[in-house]
Amino acid sequence: MSVAPTPPSPRGTPVTPGRSDACPGALRLHAADDGALARVRVPGGLLSTCQARALGSAARRLGDGDLHLTSRGNVQLRGLREGCAGELADLLGEAGLLPSPGHERVRNIVASPLSGLDARGLSEVRPWLSSLDAALCASDAARGLSGRFLFALDDGRGDVAGLAADVTVRARTDGAAQLSPGGVRIAHADVARASVAAAEVFLEAARDDGSGAWRVSGLHLAKEELAARVRRRLDALGIPHEPRAEPTTADPGPRPGALSRAVSVHVPFGRASGRQWRQLTDVAETELRLTPWRGVVVPVDGGSAAAALASLAAAGLVTDPSSPWLGVGACVGRPGCVRAHTDVRADAARTVGTVIADTRPVYWSGCERRCGRPGTHHIEVVADAGGGYRVSDTADGSARPLMVGSASHVAAALAASTS
Ligand code: SF4
Repeated sequence: MSVAPTPPSPRGTPVTPGRSDACPGALRLHAADDGALARVRVPGGLLSTCQARALGSAARRLGDGDLHLTSRGNVQLRGLREGCAGELADLLGEAGLLPSPGHERVRNIVASPLSGLDARGLSEVRPWLSSLDAALCASDAARGLSGRFLFALDDGRGDVAGLAADVTVRARTDGAAQLSPGGVRIAHADVARASVAAAEVFLEAARDDGSGAWRVSGLHLAKEELAARVRRRLDALGIPHEPRAEPTTADPGPRPGALSRAVSVHVPFGRASGRQWRQLTDVAETELRLTPWRGVVVPVDGGSAAAALASLAAAGLVTDPSSPWLGVGACVGRPGCVRAHTDVRADAARTVGTVIADTRPVYWSGCERRCGRPGTHHIEVVADAGGGYRVSDTADGSARPLMVGSASHVAAALAASTS
């Protein structure tokens, strides 16, 4: 499966989960059916225009030419030609996208994409993002996290806080931050240290409880006991904290359109063509922010937002906040994934328009693994080996069956269930 192993770290031995974590990275490529696949971690989804151009160049020179956005605001390069791993690593390294090779797969951090660009956030998350990324890359133990472990930094609006991350920090109305697991209020200055400490407590728990879990949800340990251990670790590190209830306000994330200081677009199925990516980098003045909802926010001067949006719409990106594309997602399916029972994206695309964007999103999967599915309430459509689909309404970890049938019957069921 892997064609290029993660290089050994020069420092210490990490605490590694019990089972082998085959999650791909930029240095550990995955052999997919359409060629090798690299997943480049982009903390906070934040790319300078130079980095975005470097990714575009890598996709064009080494891969299928497209940029594939993930549900964690990362980028995948697919269809990579054989033997290009070294060239890819050099290209990414020169662009500053591999600051610590031994940590390249664990820099999974989502952050509120509109932080600092509108008035809805309580605090700017950028300082948290850079300090957490630096603290992660400085932690020997953190190298033992799986490529699936997720940090979320929420500016208080409640967007990425709803993504069921393993460690979540959220700005509070009282000027402090809320850390979960732990259920405690901490100072802004302690966010990075406390987050890494929580991740290290998780790693120890995964080793000690025999679960070998990759994510907090896989631990055998009770949630309350994990929280208590995090609080004890904060005590041991001298990080002040006070128990507080979690804030509950929620926000669905940026909608497509022009904002006062940015434009926002949605990328159908997260697949941006080389032309669309070039258009995004041309419009960007300094940076792009990839969202966990397979969108891109581009900060621009307010006066140029309308023209920027028009050029992105002309490139085929979704700029209409009521577009039916906002309610439909799908894994890669056939022909890219050997496990896929069918071409789910083709079937999903045929249903666009039957789903109402403001109701529950619909996510199509080519097999039971359901890669990239939303962590929130959604309708799931899962292909089975018999050529049909199973449709369920999912909420709070449970799935209520709606129907089983062929692709041609699914659109009607979806229209009924989302109306
Ligand atoms: S859900 Fe299944 S078919 Fe889809 S990408 Fe994951 S493994 Fe492949």
